[in-house]
Amino acid sequence: MSGFLDGKTIVIMGVANKRSIAWGCTQAIINQGAKVILTYQNDRIKKSLARFVPEDLDLIECDVSEDENIEKAFTKIGETYGKIDGVIHAIAFADKDTLTSGLVHTTKDGYDLAQNISAYSLIAVARYAQPVLNDTASIMTLTYFGSTRAIPNYNMMGVAKAALEANVRYLASELGTKGIRVNAISAGAVKTLAVTGIKHHGELLKESESRTVDQKSVTTDEIGNVAAFLMSDLSTGMTGDVVYVDKGVHLI
Ligand code: NAD
Repeated sequence: MSGFLDGKTIVIMGVANKRSIAWGCTQAIINQGAKVILTYQNDRIKKSLARFVPEDLDLIECDVSEDENIEKAFTKIGETYGKIDGVIHAIAFADKDTLTSGLVHTTKDGYDLAQNISAYSLIAVARYAQPVLNDTASIMTLTYFGSTRAIPNYNMMGVAKAALEANVRYLASELGTKGIRVNAISAGAVKTLAVTGIKHHGELLKESESRTVDQKSVTTDEIGNVAAFLMSDLSTGMTGDVVYVDKGVHLI
């Protein structure tokens, strides 16, 4: 079966389990004909992937907390697969105290950690991926509209997402001359491992669902289909954009 990503190779960072947004992206991108390489954070995640990821999907370790890990992973990707056509960054983290105690109580360490993993890592990924990217490549990340609104309990993660979205615009502007596009999907709330770290996440998910246009939350498949489009040559006119895939939650 042919698809609009035939012949492309896409690196997807951030699958932890079947509920991960990155897994929705993986399936949609494979359905459109691309070869996918997954990067995973550590051995614990690798074990979780072994339960559902098909054996023919290639896996490479990459904990983004250190630049040298990112450099090593993309060097290995270049040596093993040659040039690639896109990277999806679906990674975020803040420690529990930082997430739950409110922005005013955020410590410097908590701030640095959340910014490092959730926002800075996109810059490092773009830098170390650059040598192995094809001429018309696409980089994409995942954000949430807590970046522009003070969503209850989203706290520090909203601050990190604001930085992430600024990173998207500046990277798009710098890398555009090399033909590399950089965009973000602002996804509606979905029940994933990352969301369970947010205080009262059940209420957040319920509230978000009630604000969609049809009272049904967006799915990871629906987010994945837009990610596939953003990885493809169908979207060469788009860069530096934050695309809402939330079934209208941000409208209200
Ligand atoms: P998830 O828990 O399935 O994925 C988060 C991923 O981040 C995991 O795979 C985890 O291993 C990875 N990660 C964390 N620290 C890392 C590190 N140091 N190195 C490498 N990987 C690391 O949750 P998700 O909701 O699918 O999250 C994916 C992205 O989508 C995140 O950026 C999240 O903020 C964003 N997002 C989520 C929602 C939602 O409602 N779930 C909404 C909008 C945006």
